Amino acid sequence: MKTRGSLIVLSGFAGVGKGTVLKTLFETQEGYAYSVSATTRQPRPGEVDGVHYFFVSKERFEEMIQNDELLEYATYVGNYYGTPRAYVEEKLDQGFDVILEIEVQGALNIKKKVPDAILIYMLPPGAQILHERLKGRGTETNEVIAKRMLRAAQEAVCVSQYDYIIVNNDVDECAANLHALIRAQRLRVRSNLPFIRKLTKELTNLSEKGE
Ligand code: 5GP
Repeated sequence: MKTRGSLIVLSGFAGVGKGTVLKTLFETQEGYAYSVSATTRQPRPGEVDGVHYFFVSKERFEEMIQNDELLEYATYVGNYYGTPRAYVEEKLDQGFDVILEIEVQGALNIKKKVPDAILIYMLPPGAQILHERLKGRGTETNEVIAKRMLRAAQEAVCVSQYDYIIVNNDVDECAANLHALIRAQRLRVRSNLPFIRKLTKELTNLSEKGE
């Protein structure tokens, strides 16, 4: 039987480069599944329904909440965002490490529901760089950028409740650090209890035989 995968929660300020780092991770490593969220926000140019998000109406989102179809959800800058539960469970059962790219409210809710989940926060090397990246993206108005910077300042307070931070200085290095960190979770004692029990039993049996 395959070991159940780990649930990995990745958060980080808008513009910190989570998407680029994850793209590199998925291109270079196997064994990961990315949970596509549902959202009520409008698609940005180039975003594809079912790939980047499931773009749904407010009514449909509220129906998903009612039907308990979401593992968690939150509101962020005026829109709903949530994680469809079925896909996550299926992939974890298949042994994949499932990555949720979600904001802090949702992340802290996951930690309560799934204590074994690993919460990782991606930080920029400095605030100025973050501002420049957000402006450089050119997809948002100054007003939305200002709101996102304010939200970043508010979120920074919650970073202390995460398990790990990774700094995005360089995309390849950051993806390699993320991978190393996730792989290390596989070696935790509590992730390997069935194996340890089996080995202990075998040792006991052999010692009782007196060989
Ligand atoms: P964006 O609009 O820039 O794509 O995402 C805004 C924020 O919502 C990001 O911090 C992103 O990580 C977060 N987010 C995306 N999907 C989900 C989700 O399913 N649940 C929660 N709680 N946050 C999400």
